Amino acid sequence: MNTRRDFLSKLAVSATMPAIWCGNAFAQTPPPPVKLTEADPMAVALGYKEDTTKVDAVKYPLHKPEQKCNSCALYTGKAGDATGPCAAFAGKLVTEAGWCSVWAKKPDPVKP
Ligand code: SF4
Repeated sequence: MNTRRDFLSKLAVSATMPAIWCGNAFAQTPPPPVKLTEADPMAVALGYKEDTTKVDAVKYPLHKPEQKCNSCALYTGKAGDATGPCAAFAGKLVTEAGWCSVWAKKPDPVKP
């Protein structure tokens, strides 16, 4: 037999379930980033090389050897680290000496 009390009890439980599910979703930590390989389909599409000196000059005539991931605006690795995150390859680490066709010069630091 359904009573008003049963109804309110079920309503209270169902109202809290989304909060519990959301809490669990946010509690999960993302997997640690993995190093990007040159064979990765996205890396192939963007001409990524772990070593900027290995870039195909015929295929990418605008590439210059001094262009490296560590001087790219999309690279957020720390100075001195061999690899770091890149906004073009979410969840992957690129080499600081790497390059891809998305390279864009990192802006000069603002002077005080
Ligand atoms: S977008 Fe920039 S940091 Fe990312 S792989 Fe290409 S050159 Fe390197």
